Amino acid sequence: MLKNTGEGKEYRAFSVRNFRQIPQVENLSEEEKKNIETVGQVLPFKVNNYVVDELIDWGNYKNDPIFHLTFPQKGMLDRKDFNTMASAIDAGKNRMELREIADTIRHKLNPHPANQMEMNVPELEGEILPGVQHKYRETALFFPTAGQTCHSYCTFCFRWPQFVLLSSLSEREREILQLIAGGYSNKEIGEKLSISHRSVDTHRTNMMRKLEIHNTAGLVSFAINNGIMHGRD
Ligand code: SF4
Repeated sequence: MLKNTGEGKEYRAFSVRNFRQIPQVENLSEEEKKNIETVGQVLPFKVNNYVVDELIDWGNYKNDPIFHLTFPQKGMLDRKDFNTMASAIDAGKNRMELREIADTIRHKLNPHPANQMEMNVPELEGEILPGVQHKYRETALFFPTAGQTCHSYCTFCFRWPQFVLLSSLSEREREILQLIAGGYSNKEIGEKLSISHRSVDTHRTNMMRKLEIHNTAGLVSFAINNGIMHGRD
């Protein structure tokens, strides 16, 4: 968290869960707020108090480029998908149900058009090289975990899958993913968590489906890139 910045303000982030607390948002119509909530269930939304207070002209927010850059817009979703999510919210669906609907919509958005979860992972003599991506010839990209977020998300961001996919996993799945990344087998994970190896396999399969990853190397890479790597005891 940033403290004592220029004017003594503390950094504060807003998401789909608390953006209604932003005083300036009171100027928006209820329909506009609901649009933000609907799209924000599917695509990542984070804005901070500096952007809100210093960069957006709230007297003309409808035409303000920074408002459009940071606040989800209705047109970001296909109309049918938008209506599906809006109806689910209106019907009072719970968080898990909304997440399932969101996942279905996200998968239709082709989050990994170049198979980057699997194709960009360099190996040396069969071993995955943690923290490195290899997308271009003679170029290695290093992605420190601490750098894999932004203090405000752009509505056009091509990295949106990175920001939302982790949140699609349950606590148990994250736990298992940590152990998979640590090199544990299903049997070992089952013993550690006191569940059967078949349950571990089911969780592994579910994670691969949610993340659109088709092998263990891809899961390990995802865990590394999202800071949930776990070493062996
Ligand atoms: S990665 Fe770039 S485009 Fe995406 S939210 Fe961060 S600053 Fe915006």
